[in-house]
Amino acid sequence: MTAHLRLAVPNKGRLLEPTLALLRDAGLVFDARERSLVSHCENFPLDILFVRTEDIVEFVGDGVAEMGITGANLLAESGRGLEVRASLHYGRCHLDAAVPVDAPAQRLEDLSGARVATSHPSYTGRFFREHGIPVDVVPLSGAVEVAPRMGLADAIVDLVSTGSTMLVNGLRSVGTLLSSEAILVANPGADGPATEVVTMLQAVVDGRERRYVMMNAPLAALSEIEALLPGLGSPSVLPLARPDMVAVHAVVGADEVWGLLGRLRAAGASGILVLPIELLVP
Ligand code: AMP
Repeated sequence: MTAHLRLAVPNKGRLLEPTLALLRDAGLVFDARERSLVSHCENFPLDILFVRTEDIVEFVGDGVAEMGITGANLLAESGRGLEVRASLHYGRCHLDAAVPVDAPAQRLEDLSGARVATSHPSYTGRFFREHGIPVDVVPLSGAVEVAPRMGLADAIVDLVSTGSTMLVNGLRSVGTLLSSEAILVANPGADGPATEVVTMLQAVVDGRERRYVMMNAPLAALSEIEALLPGLGSPSVLPLARPDMVAVHAVVGADEVWGLLGRLRAAGASGILVLPIELLVP
């Protein structure tokens, strides 16, 4: 084990900014202006290596870095058995099969015998083999969506998030091979400080999905209000100077907040505050 743990992260592309935001939200202090290769964290024994997103699995697999952040699709494509230590809930996309809008295929099974162009040839080949659908995989490193128009393939397998690239290229999805998001991967031997990094990043991800809600409530309405707050176990109930009132604090899902506010008020809650949660360790 080297003195400093090494975490490989994307040096450009769509995972770069959300990855830097995650590390900063976890409280790591580092300088990312010189993103050429490595940045030393000022407040934790960690070196951040900036490398190409598609090289990260290899860096971690070969032990050049103990941990890395990349897309689940790239780990699947590599076929390497790295440990996924956390799902990071950004960079969400799916690997879809698509055909020209006027093609007859409606489902993945209809691609039997088709030539399928993709920049994920290894995963695509594995997927269709495992599903007993014989296809010819045509490996391409880019511009996959133009392959059918150029006569290179009958269908493609490519990453989609909004679907607009497919639409612009006259393609229609016929099914999903894989759902992907950014993940934290680790070398199987990584422990000690690596576990601390996992805990910190997981705490940020968990905190982002929750809100801390505080309110005042008539004591008489307490059981109704408690029933509205699933949260993390039971809410905290604190006495107030007025004996007929209490303060109620609870952790709720960020998505639930809008639905909850009206119901809490209707139940008698007042002075409702909703606060972000920086880190949450359940
Ligand atoms: P980059 O090519 O460096 O921008 O990073 C591409 C990675 O971002 C992919 O391997 C995916 O893990 C992720 N990603 C998320 N949404 C998309 C999308 N719509 N198209 C391509 N990649 C995506």
